Amino acid sequence: MGRDIRVHQVYAGRVLQGPGARSLVPDELERLGSERVLLVTTPSSAEVGQGLAVALGERHVATFARPVQHTPVEVTAEALAVAGEARADAIIAIGGGSAIGLSKALAIRTGMPQVAVPTTYAGSEATPVLGETENGVKTTRRDPVFAPGTVVYDPELTLSLPRGLTLTSALNALAHAVEALWDTGASAATRAYGVEAADGILTALPVVLDRPSDVVARGRLQEAAWLAGACLAQARMGLHHQLAHVLGGTFGLPHAELHALLLAHVMRFNLAAAPDAAARLARVADGDPALAIAALAAKHDGPTSLGALGVPRTALRGVAERVAADPYPNPRPVTADAVEELLLAAW
Ligand code: NAD
Repeated sequence: MGRDIRVHQVYAGRVLQGPGARSLVPDELERLGSERVLLVTTPSSAEVGQGLAVALGERHVATFARPVQHTPVEVTAEALAVAGEARADAIIAIGGGSAIGLSKALAIRTGMPQVAVPTTYAGSEATPVLGETENGVKTTRRDPVFAPGTVVYDPELTLSLPRGLTLTSALNALAHAVEALWDTGASAATRAYGVEAADGILTALPVVLDRPSDVVARGRLQEAAWLAGACLAQARMGLHHQLAHVLGGTFGLPHAELHALLLAHVMRFNLAAAPDAAARLARVADGDPALAIAALAAKHDGPTSLGALGVPRTALRGVAERVAADPYPNPRPVTADAVEELLLAAW
């Protein structure tokens, strides 16, 4: 008894979704009983943040506009001081995973409720996970307090995403869905999310790349990214995320670009050992899913190989050995030789 029991916990108790949904954020603060809001914004979301500050009027007491990737604790301390001085009682984070990461870091230190307004497809708003960096070392923690209680998905806020970030961020989301599909311990709900997320991304992403201002396709892509984020919250991530963590951490590589270029390689590595995931993904892709994703990844104008990202070829063996020494759960056994081969192909 016990070993086959699956637990499915839903995060973000309340999700609002659709073009213009951001206009409902003040009502959401009202629901939370908040009277003193701290806004977390980024340069890319500054204008939307200003609009929201105006709409909130006196309930907006401070803005912190300098979140940084991987949530350095020094930045959190600065934001905490701003929140304390302003006696904030709730947080609204508008931006990508960096802004939402800072909001999570503040929430666990203060107990403030969070409203997340994502502007990328990274999916952090759907997870109870936070990666923080201290003295250059990143540690990841899981706690339900990290998960924002309310998420507002407004596809209009993704219209400004440049083509490159649209592509890499969407493939970052797809990686969450794919890894959930080959996690044999994932719940039925997570598998359903994974299939719907993969379908949405493979259908909507090509349309968005052709017509970046198509709000309907942007909305479909965003809802797929939401479900992909929910997969990340539920399932055990495997070799793909391990490679992204080790390579990203060792060489300081851009998060979304790294995921985008690795995904098809890891799928080629794993799918034969994950027939159920392979069958579901083949139905969604209407053919070879690794080929479909490789074709999308190749549309990136930026780096599409580890070599082009600046990883030295001589470092690949060491990375493969580190990964094989302590592998994340993965459908195909992870050996240093096999991982080195994968990395050489991605290089
Ligand atoms: P990001 O938040 O760092 O944003 C990347 C860049 O895009 C920034 O310069 C930002 O200002 C800009 N940007 C964001 N939205 C934009 C828009 N709509 N238009 C124009 N520019 C825009 O990147 P990200 O990929 O969203 O998030 C990465 C971070 O999130 C990493 O720190 C990663 O570890 C973390 N993350 C955490 C989780 C989790 O569950 N804890 C999940 C995914 C990502």
